[in-house]
Amino acid sequence: MSNDSFRAVNKEMAKKEEKNYANPRNLAAGTLRQLDPKIVKSRKLDSYIYEVYGNIGAKTHEEKHKILANLGFKTSKYVKYCKNISEVIKYCREVSKERPKLPFQVDGVVVIVNDNNLYERLGSVGKAPRGAIAYKFPAEQGTTKIIDIQTNVGRTGAITPFAVMEPVCLAGTTVTRATLHNEDEIKRKDILIGDTVVVQKAGDIIPEVVGSLPELRTGKEKKFKMPKRCPVCGGPVLKPEGEAVARCVAESCFAIEMQRVEHFVGRNAFNIEGLGEKIIEQLFQEGLISDAADLFALKEGDLEPLERFAEKSASNLVESIKMNKNITLNKFLYSLGIRHVGSITANDITNHLGSLERIKKASIQELEQIEGVGPVAAKSIYEWFRNKNNLRLLRKLKTHEVRVQNPKPKTQNPKLRGLSFVITGSLESISREEAEQRIRELDGKATSSVSKSTTYLVAGENPGSKLAKAEVLGVKIINEKDFLGLI
Ligand SMILES: [Zn+2]
Repeated sequence: MSNDSFRAVNKEMAKKEEKNYANPRNLAAGTLRQLDPKIVKSRKLDSYIYEVYGNIGAKTHEEKHKILANLGFKTSKYVKYCKNISEVIKYCREVSKERPKLPFQVDGVVVIVNDNNLYERLGSVGKAPRGAIAYKFPAEQGTTKIIDIQTNVGRTGAITPFAVMEPVCLAGTTVTRATLHNEDEIKRKDILIGDTVVVQKAGDIIPEVVGSLPELRTGKEKKFKMPKRCPVCGGPVLKPEGEAVARCVAESCFAIEMQRVEHFVGRNAFNIEGLGEKIIEQLFQEGLISDAADLFALKEGDLEPLERFAEKSASNLVESIKMNKNITLNKFLYSLGIRHVGSITANDITNHLGSLERIKKASIQELEQIEGVGPVAAKSIYEWFRNKNNLRLLRKLKTHEVRVQNPKPKTQNPKLRGLSFVITGSLESISREEAEQRIRELDGKATSSVSKSTTYLVAGENPGSKLAKAEVLGVKIINEKDFLGLI
């Protein structure tokens, strides 16, 4: 992927309001996964061929390149035979210097044994041949000036400072922003607003400020101060003793609530399609929702007057929200956006405690005993379920008929798998609830109405109309004693 095609594709993506690719490597990989050959063609992928297998009479690697070129393949003009290691080092330095001028991005040079026999004899360690090694260029660095240090607010209220910089070209793309993580990091790197700084791309993707160049200071530089008020909602910002991160603690922070909703509808949570950032923002702005639970009360008519909503997309969205009202406990727990509870932790807790009620009641000690849950997460979960607003959200979700499915208890004995039961009348030795519970434990199904797919009707004392229905449908009827024999 050449730098030119990379820029052109990203420009098109931006026009369609789609996310840009971070670098040509991601774009090339993403293109190869495309199913539509027209899109693949439009991306202008290209390749240089450097290897050929089988007996083609080449004694050296260099010859292979010549044969490939003669056969009409595109080969790189940067292939060079070096007589010894000092020539190799010299050539690596030369390419490194030419790197910014290349029409494509490279991250290094491959040094390979030229004698094919020798290369074969050297063999390989795992998948890595002993006869070849990559010399990687250092991350590309540049210098620029910090115009300002601003902050943004994350889902957990964390306030993260980032540098606004004069545009600088790094590893093929122009960069104007870089995260600074937190206040301590800014101090450690000695960065002032107005400083000239060295920047680089970590892993050639994420821009980062390496450090400042204090010798270039003019005296007009200013120190960054963490705002005392949230940049979004104006709520109070607190930095707990011993923690690196400052947070907005306002409970109604618009940005926080918005991002909570985004998290709530995400793929590993409620997985509601068609609810992107822009639409969520609009729903908030129009006052249609004030938290995630309100989503479940949305009606097509609420949405249609909004921009971006044609009749069809409104009904699709409402439908997709409705379809996702049933959710498994682990996904539900994750969707709540409790700090320190990611998907994996949510799974661990679900497997151990098995129901929302038990999670709600669990003590810090109980939570800490779960493998994968540390003291910090335990405290965070405990406190979440003791916060009035959170409990209100849970109640609200329940009113909107959001159903949380507990994981099935692990069946030791699935002897009733595939069988379905209906109980009618009263049983002597066991209550109906207990009987149904027992059926489920044995992996059977207990339902309340008789149908063709019912395997057994259990008839107790004073059976109701279900008995007659079972007879009509030809469902097998058993008494309490037969039933007890089965369970
Ligand atoms: Zn706020």
